[in-house]
Amino acid sequence: MKITIHRGADQIGGCITEICSESGNKIFIDLGHNLPSESDEPDKYDNPTTLSTLLEGVSAVVYTHNHGDHAGFFAHIPEDIPQYMGAMGREVMQNSLEEQLNTAQRAGRTQRAEEVEGAIARLNKFRTYATARTFHIGDIAITPYFVSHSAADAHMLLVECDRKRVLHTGDFRDHGFTGKGLTPTLARIGQVDALIIEGTTLSRDGSASKSEYQIQQEMLELMGRYKNIFVVCSSTNFDRLAGLYQDTLKIGRPFVCDQYQKHQLNTLSKYTGKFTSLYNIQNAWTISLNNNALHKRMFEQGFTMVVRNNANFRKWIGFIKEHIDLAETICIYSQYLGYLEEQPSLREFVDSFGCKVEYIHTSGHASPEAIEEVCRTLNPRSAIIPIHKDATSDFHTLNLPDELKAKIIAADTAQLGIPI
Ligand SMILES: [Zn+2]
Ligand SMILES: [Zn+2]
Repeated sequence: MKITIHRGADQIGGCITEICSESGNKIFIDLGHNLPSESDEPDKYDNPTTLSTLLEGVSAVVYTHNHGDHAGFFAHIPEDIPQYMGAMGREVMQNSLEEQLNTAQRAGRTQRAEEVEGAIARLNKFRTYATARTFHIGDIAITPYFVSHSAADAHMLLVECDRKRVLHTGDFRDHGFTGKGLTPTLARIGQVDALIIEGTTLSRDGSASKSEYQIQQEMLELMGRYKNIFVVCSSTNFDRLAGLYQDTLKIGRPFVCDQYQKHQLNTLSKYTGKFTSLYNIQNAWTISLNNNALHKRMFEQGFTMVVRNNANFRKWIGFIKEHIDLAETICIYSQYLGYLEEQPSLREFVDSFGCKVEYIHTSGHASPEAIEEVCRTLNPRSAIIPIHKDATSDFHTLNLPDELKAKIIAADTAQLGIPI
């Protein structure tokens, strides 16, 4: 078996890992876009020639989860290469693309609408996998294991061939609502020959990560002090949305979102609501300018409203602000702080609320302590291959025994390919 990190060994995002068996069967794990924050240059694979050269001889692409820095090129992959993802993660992507299609059609952007239609058609051909169910691509066996992350339906992938076992962690954490499942999952996987593992927090959000329970408590405390709560957060960060929803229910106010967010929450409830009431979100209200029953409740009782930076929300927020006291109102900024620097229009959107703004957020990525736990528990026989980390972060700074530190593979070696 040979592992090649085509991209991601010395940058966060843009992940592309190749695993090739002795017989020459080659699969990719993730094929992601560069994050805008990581590079100012256009992505070199945003080009049919470089992408098809990269994909030569690849028999499948298996995604750990649906974030763009892992699955960003899916629409451009030739149809004869099968692509795999968890069923819920695939549906979340479909909801998002349908929203993009509606937006493009409403704006009369025909070319953009056609592009999105093409992406939806490609997504419809995805094959889906389920946690702990092994599937085969030629002589390579893959077993996905569900793991907590800020994306819906993220998985670690155990890849086995040539009597070798490799775990690719994708993006993960142990401080989400389902994070306590990490330790038993690692015990189930057992020892591996090589571990490909993310290291985002060695440079980014490196402070001790708060748990989603702590975040939920902080939100609840603010709901006790403020009547009206606007929350800027991702529509697919389901731990955050579920925590907010349950807090809002507890305090007896309406939880308000738009059609698209409601659609995403319906997908969450459909796939996971039967396992836990936390993710069963049945009573979210949909905002509009003529829903008088909702307006009456909002202005009397207060509300929690999840907002996004777009023209519709600006219109709705403008209307709501005419009916509420801004001294009783707070805007919670609940996503990566760096976006405020990278996106001036987002900064302007947050400023436009005219009320107090508070930052409450925790990372979607593994803390250094969680990374150490995974390395120690899986105790790889030959290699620890760091990915999804910036060029200056060094796994040798982690608190690991010397015999494990000796197995850490440098980025330039990983890019050339490592025989396992
Ligand atoms: Zn990522
Ligand atoms: Zn991710």
